[in-house]
Amino acid sequence: LFSGRVEFLLSAPQLKFLPDPSVPEIAFCGRSNVGKSSLLNAVTGRRAIARASVTPGRTQELNIFEVGQPTQFRLVDMPGYGFAKAPVKVVEKWKQLMKTYLRGRPVLNRTLVLVDSRHGLKDADREMMRMLDESAVGFRVVLTKTDKVKVSDLDRTAERVAEEIRRHPAAYPEMHLTSAEKGMGIAELRAAIMVDAGL
Ligand code: GDP
Repeated sequence: LFSGRVEFLLSAPQLKFLPDPSVPEIAFCGRSNVGKSSLLNAVTGRRAIARASVTPGRTQELNIFEVGQPTQFRLVDMPGYGFAKAPVKVVEKWKQLMKTYLRGRPVLNRTLVLVDSRHGLKDADREMMRMLDESAVGFRVVLTKTDKVKVSDLDRTAERVAEEIRRHPAAYPEMHLTSAEKGMGIAELRAAIMVDAGL
């Protein structure tokens, strides 16, 4: 399916700009620079369907991509979070957009929470996971850039993250280990997304 039509549809700064909720949606979120654009490109097999972030913390829109002809599901690229220098107003606007989207979008089947393998979970991720719990939106944790850490460090980080996500009712217990650069874990993640999209 991903080898067929994958197309950018629109950027929505507010909920009212979203397309009709006619097909399932799978959202990608994570801290700025986590490797979200790279992962979206790897999963869709496109070199640059998602543009690598211009200025971290500035993009405050939901970027919507369509998969399939006719469209079978949509991928939603959420604005990156946790950018230390973001002005309070920008952070507030982000929270509002996230909360209204998570609570008001019944076609949102799953969210992928991307976490940098080098850093593990940060408070911004914890806040995101709490929002997902509260909105009852099931999520998968995806470790990114696994090629950048030693196997022993990756094991330790994965264990710590696994332990923590057990406390989140909306979290999938298993997480995904990926490297967009080396292609590791991408096929598995793609398969999981198709299942989440009901295919
Ligand atoms: P975004 O801001 O979350 O969209 O992150 P990007 O996809 O733009 O990636 C941020 C930086 O991390 C870029 O320099 C990427 O080349 C790098 N990066 C992303 N994924 C990987 C990966 O799997 N391995 C390595 N080594 N670098 C990666």
